[in-house]
Amino acid sequence: MPLLVVGSVALDSVETPDQQRDRVLGGSAVYFSYAASYFTSVRLVGAVGEDWPEEHTRLLAGRKIDTAGLKVMPGEKTFYWKGKYLDDMNERETLEIQLNAYQQYQPELSDDFRRCPFLFLANGSPSLQLHVLDQMIGPRLVVADTMDLWIREEQDDLKKLLERIDGLVLNDSEAKLLTETNNLVLAGQRVLELGPRFVVIKKGEHGAMFFSKHEIYVLPAFPTQDVVDPTGAGDSFAGGMMGYLAEQGNFEPKTLKEAMAFGILVASFTVEDFSLDRLEQITRDDIELRLNAYRKMLQF
Ligand code: AMP
Repeated sequence: MPLLVVGSVALDSVETPDQQRDRVLGGSAVYFSYAASYFTSVRLVGAVGEDWPEEHTRLLAGRKIDTAGLKVMPGEKTFYWKGKYLDDMNERETLEIQLNAYQQYQPELSDDFRRCPFLFLANGSPSLQLHVLDQMIGPRLVVADTMDLWIREEQDDLKKLLERIDGLVLNDSEAKLLTETNNLVLAGQRVLELGPRFVVIKKGEHGAMFFSKHEIYVLPAFPTQDVVDPTGAGDSFAGGMMGYLAEQGNFEPKTLKEAMAFGILVASFTVEDFSLDRLEQITRDDIELRLNAYRKMLQF
């Protein structure tokens, strides 16, 4: 089943302890779309500026990603994010952020896109996420991501959004900030009380925790020694997870657990190089091979 994603489409400059890249392809919706495209057809909604290299659109369109919803904003530049990883690559600082094309962007979905059964609201302002959700016609599954910026600055809209979505994906520090507790299990349960039927708390190299009314579990990250650039790991996780759910066409507890595993595995490839460089080299078979190793690893 088709999957719609709305989020940032960006040019990123990234510094790691060993290397640096300038203005490479990034953005939450880009990592998400590419990761999901191993599983299902994806419709990408976002904005770019006049500096956007056309080759990036070609790269996305070369997968099963429909880029008709990618709008070039006249007179604008593309969203720009600059980040730096510390020696402990779980720690990252944002050095610069320029909203550019996203400053005035209010996506208007085509009729076809409005009827998409699976929707992912990637990291973006809750008011924009609500604006998109308002346009949807009978979606079967709506999942959103958020971040500390929105928890601090747009909490009212974020809470309105939480009442209307099926699932929320966020990282551990964000979950603690949102629920004002340092206990992750409590944090997960408190997010459920705000509305979503399930919550996934991402814990970087430590994997991800799942919460619903009926179950709580943790899946570890797939151990990889080649961590080159963690940028986009969270978005690729969400892309793998939602892509698999859309492919299966359901979100039963068993499917959700498998989807979490696929999210973790796709993210483990993303971090092995900058931008989409590693994902461009792999196929679904590579993901399935890693799944076999992951299943063995978890058997005891
Ligand atoms: P992740 O490493 O999964 O958190 O995602 C990093 C990506 O998110 C980068 O490619 C950035 O361009 C993008 N990004 C960073 N900050 C924001 C923001 N405030 N809103 C939307 N996207 C962002």
